[in-house]
Amino acid sequence: MIPLTKTAEPAVLQRNAATWTAELLQKIADGDEPTKYLLGRYAHPDIKVALLIETSEKCAYCESSFRHVTYGDIEHIVPKAVEPTLRFAWHNLTIACDVCNTNKSDVADLVDPYACNPSLRFKFHGPLMWAVPTDNSAVLTEEQLDLNRSKLVERRCERIEFLRNLIGSAVTKPQAIRDAMLRRAERETLETKPYSACATAALANLRALHGL
Ligand SMILES: [Zn+2]
Repeated sequence: MIPLTKTAEPAVLQRNAATWTAELLQKIADGDEPTKYLLGRYAHPDIKVALLIETSEKCAYCESSFRHVTYGDIEHIVPKAVEPTLRFAWHNLTIACDVCNTNKSDVADLVDPYACNPSLRFKFHGPLMWAVPTDNSAVLTEEQLDLNRSKLVERRCERIEFLRNLIGSAVTKPQAIRDAMLRRAERETLETKPYSACATAALANLRALHGL
């Protein structure tokens, strides 16, 4: 998990969020079952595109790049079942992979990557992402989302191994080549890359190990 920043609210939400919310709340107040159309208006393509740009097409929670296998789900940070007034609120929307989205369910009070620096709340030990034990919200997030599920650990190990091989090779090279390889390694930790929080921690460890 990395810090995320909200971009500009899409025009379709600026124009309609208040009306959509009012119509939905009226239905609920009248005791009527809201239609799928009323409930699903947040899935407008312009909103999805804006969220994919904002998250670099990665899950806001586990940093998986999922676009090659799935569309990804629009995720309500505060669950829409818990707070229907935030169903169309731009600041409450992000993107999650289908596994994190399903695991999160209607649980509130998880770590919000838009509201804090997750690196202060989770520490990487190799491929494992551990919540700071005194941080109840972080511990709940790790457990609820299953942030050390085997597929994630496997993918993070691949990132670590790649960096390990790159740094291991770099130390044997002349200075100019070594510097170029180190720059390549740094690029692998950019926020647009999958599992960048894990890669950042791994690269710092590898550099220290090799005195680079
Ligand atoms: Zn995820």
